[in-house]
Amino acid sequence: MFFLKFRFAICVLFLTSSAYSQSDSSFVAVTSSENKLVFDLKYATSDNFLKAAVYDCSTCFLREEAAIALKKAATRAWKKYKLRLKLFDCYRPLAVQERMFALVPNPEYVADPKKGSIHNRGAAVDLTLIDENGIELDMGTSFDHFGVEAAHTYQNLTEIQKSNRKKLLSIMKSAGFKPLPSEWWHYNYGKSRKFSISNANLCATKEDLNKVDVN
Ligand SMILES: [Zn+2]
Repeated sequence: MFFLKFRFAICVLFLTSSAYSQSDSSFVAVTSSENKLVFDLKYATSDNFLKAAVYDCSTCFLREEAAIALKKAATRAWKKYKLRLKLFDCYRPLAVQERMFALVPNPEYVADPKKGSIHNRGAAVDLTLIDENGIELDMGTSFDHFGVEAAHTYQNLTEIQKSNRKKLLSIMKSAGFKPLPSEWWHYNYGKSRKFSISNANLCATKEDLNKVDVN
């Protein structure tokens, strides 16, 4: 019996450590040397619903596969519409998720930290489209609007707002991302579940990470 328990403990230890090493080695820092992407990471500032800067830096971290898919989306936005992507959030450590859920304990808008968000796996992005002058396209609500108006099915919008949301949807889907029904700005990379949840503070190690440049 003792032996069985011991074996079980070894198995759990092995699984835990291998999941973490797989997870943290595939993070990259997303850069944009030609400004095809614009970064406005709201949680690195106090301009968010937490009213506090909860990130130590304003770098967008993602899993490498998700970053490459984002690069595809940026290329499509530029080539097809002469638009650029503006990022509001990328990877989010689990501890930040816990703070968010304490303030907005509604899983439709903020994932329960017990399950974790795809942001905690480094495979979700919050974003919008901007024009050649850097002006955000009108999507009908602001980012992090926790109400029915932010849903993809919400119909009481102008034709321009509907068309803008449709453009973002089509750009992101063509690059392998899936929409979240309740938030027009949130997209999950299609194969996100294979990445484990992380609480790593990547700001502390960002110089050591590989880069994916969206140019
Ligand atoms: Zn999101």
